Amino acid sequence: MSISIEAYRPIVGTQFIDELYRIADHINDRAIQHINSTPVGGGVAEILHRLVPLTNELGVKATWDVIKGSEEFFNVTKAFHNALHGSGNDITDDMFEIYRETTRDNLKSMNLYGDVIMIHDPQPAGLIAKKDEIGRKWAWRCHIDVSQPNKKLWYFLQQYVDQYHASVFSMPDFSQQLPIPQFLIAPSIDPLADKNRDLEQSFIDEIIEKYELDPDRPIITQISRYDRLKDPVGVIQAYKIVKKRYDVQLVLAGGGASDDPEGAAVLQEAQEMGAEDPDVKILLLPAYSDKEINALQRASTVVLQKSIKEGFGLTVTEAMWKRKPVIGGATGGIRKQIIDGVTGYLVHTVEGTARRIIDILNNPTMADELARNAYEHVRNNFLLTRHLKDYLLLMIALERDGSDVIEL
Ligand code: UDP
Repeated sequence: MSISIEAYRPIVGTQFIDELYRIADHINDRAIQHINSTPVGGGVAEILHRLVPLTNELGVKATWDVIKGSEEFFNVTKAFHNALHGSGNDITDDMFEIYRETTRDNLKSMNLYGDVIMIHDPQPAGLIAKKDEIGRKWAWRCHIDVSQPNKKLWYFLQQYVDQYHASVFSMPDFSQQLPIPQFLIAPSIDPLADKNRDLEQSFIDEIIEKYELDPDRPIITQISRYDRLKDPVGVIQAYKIVKKRYDVQLVLAGGGASDDPEGAAVLQEAQEMGAEDPDVKILLLPAYSDKEINALQRASTVVLQKSIKEGFGLTVTEAMWKRKPVIGGATGGIRKQIIDGVTGYLVHTVEGTARRIIDILNNPTMADELARNAYEHVRNNFLLTRHLKDYLLLMIALERDGSDVIEL
C-alpha cells in the first residue's frame, strides 16, 4: 500500500508535514535499520509496516529485518515477555542458553548495515554483540512495561541493554535505571492505513452479516492476540454479568503472532467459556485482516481492552480514533491513553468492567462525549506522523551523541 506523506496534511496540519521534511533534511544520507522478531501480529509489526515506508518517503532510508528463531526460542522469549511484565517467575539458566544460541545464529546470518540500528524488544537485543566490530549507532526500543520485571531476567538482559547508545521507552513509568540515555517515545497508529481509515457503511454491514451479528443490539468488542495478559476470559465474565440485564453481543477477535506460541491454548480457554452462548463470537482472524478489524471496531457500541499488563495497547488507540467509548485495564500504556472519565474508562476488575459497560449503554450522550475526547487525544498525541518525527530526532540526537543542545 502506498500512501503519500502529503495525504497526512489535512489530518495533522500542513505545518507539521513541512517540519518533518525540514528535520529529514538534517539526517544526511544515514539509514535506519529496524529489527524485531515477527513480521506480522502484534503492535511492533503493526507500526513498522507503515513507519518504514513513510520514513523512506521523506528521503531517509529505512529498512526492516526480522530475526529467525525456533519454536523453542520463541517459547523462551514469550516466557521472558511475561516475566518482564512481572508475571510468571520460571526463568531458568537453560532459557538463557537457548537465547544465547539463537542470538549467535542470528549474528552469523544477519546483515547489520544500518547507520542507526534500532532493535525492538528483548528477542533481538543480543545482536548488540556486533557493536565493537561494526560500529554504528545502536538504540534499544523497548515496547514492554519493564517497571517491575523479574529481577533475574532483567540482570541477564541488562548486560546487553547497557551496551546500547540509547534506550527508548513508551512512557516514563516503564523505564529502568540504566547507564545509557533514555528517550521517551509513545507508539502510534496510522490514520490512513486499512486498519484505521474511514470505511464505507456497506463494508461494515457486510462484516456484521458475515459474523452473524445483529446490528440492532449493542456490540461489545475486544480485538487482541489470544494472550492471558489481554484477559479474554475476564472479558467474557464481564459480558456475562452485563448479559443478565441487557441484550448485548460480544465479539472477541484476534489472530496469532509468529513469536507468540501461547495463542492456541488461550483461544481454547476462551472458546470453552463462550461455547454455550450464540451471542458470543470468538473469532480467529488470519493475518492482514486489517479492514475487517476496522469494520468490527466501527460496528461496536463499546470497545474493551481489559488487559492485565499492556505495553501500550494500539487496539485502544485504534478504537479511540474511531470515536468509540473505550474501557481499558488500568495498566501500562492504556493509562497514557485513557484519562478516566474523560477519554474513556479505566477498570481494575471484571465487575468494574461490567459496571462501565452498563454506564455507557445507559448514557449514550456521555458515551459520545468520551468518544469525541478520545479522538482528539489520539489526533494530538498518537498518530504516525508524530512518531516519525520523534524517530528522526532520535537519529539526529544519536549522531550528535553527548551534545546537550542540537540546533536544527
Ligand atoms: N491485531 C491484528 N489482528 C489480530 C489482533 C490484533 O491485526 O488478530 C492488531 C491490532 O489491531 C493492533 C495490534 O495488532 O494494531 C496489537 O497491538 P497492541 O499494542 O494492542 O498489542 P500487542 O499485540 O502488541 O501486545
